[in-house]
Amino acid sequence: MNENRPLNIRMVMVNTTHPGNIGAAARAMKNMGLSELYLVEPKDYPADKAMWRAASAVDVLENAKVVSTLDEAIADCGLVIGTSARERRIPWPLLTPRECGERTWAEAGKHPVAIVFGREDRGLTNEELHKCNYHVHIPANPEYSSLNISAALQVICYEVRIAWLEAEQGKELHFDDWDQPPAGQAALEHFYAHLQETLEKLKFLDAENPRQTITRMRRLFNRVRLDKMELSILRGMLTSIQNFIYHSEGKQKEFESKHK
Ligand code: SAH
Repeated sequence: MNENRPLNIRMVMVNTTHPGNIGAAARAMKNMGLSELYLVEPKDYPADKAMWRAASAVDVLENAKVVSTLDEAIADCGLVIGTSARERRIPWPLLTPRECGERTWAEAGKHPVAIVFGREDRGLTNEELHKCNYHVHIPANPEYSSLNISAALQVICYEVRIAWLEAEQGKELHFDDWDQPPAGQAALEHFYAHLQETLEKLKFLDAENPRQTITRMRRLFNRVRLDKMELSILRGMLTSIQNFIYHSEGKQKEFESKHK
């Protein structure tokens, strides 16, 4: 068992508006034994209000990493879970908060895990949610399902805590012992860019709606949980396809210039 599991579990808050919510989140984390907080372009931070609301969890704030993009915050993560108060048009594999806690605890023994929270006013964008392996929804009152962000973060951290305590009491929470580590998020982003570029060159992508296809491809590969070796094979295949296109374009031009 990896003794540093809690250090492999990070809460990521994207574009948070109110510094008080950041402080309350830090407190919620420390109460549950967690400490890795990432802030993606917070609107108003550092701020005294955050310090006051953090109470005795100021250390979590002091150690929080402020970054400018979500990609930076999750680059090295093997598992990314996005939180959402509402359903989206293209549904993603969904976890309950309890499953989220268990999966987070199990996988944190192997690689960094991120749980991502959205803006107070409009949550996470679809693009941000599409970077996640799973979505988690707190099954609140359907007529008013949007919790305050620090309350939502508290619920999720509590579930991680429960999984942690259950594991200590002997509950088996293992991530499959796979022969290869999962691909990290940054490598996956490079792959998606490479895939899109190749599909455009092949003229396979629907010019009317390229993003839908790419979104569905992201969902497919996220569901599979590509490992590092599989990812490098796929990158190699894309490179071969691009080389092939490049050479056949060259031959085509040669042919055209000879037969002018
Ligand atoms: N109006 C926004 C809600 C934002 S609430 C929307 O419609 O998306 C701010 C953040 O708190 C959300 O982005 C999410 O991270 C978290 N949150 C709030 N309610 C939640 C719920 N029921 N389930 C999961 N996350 C929730």
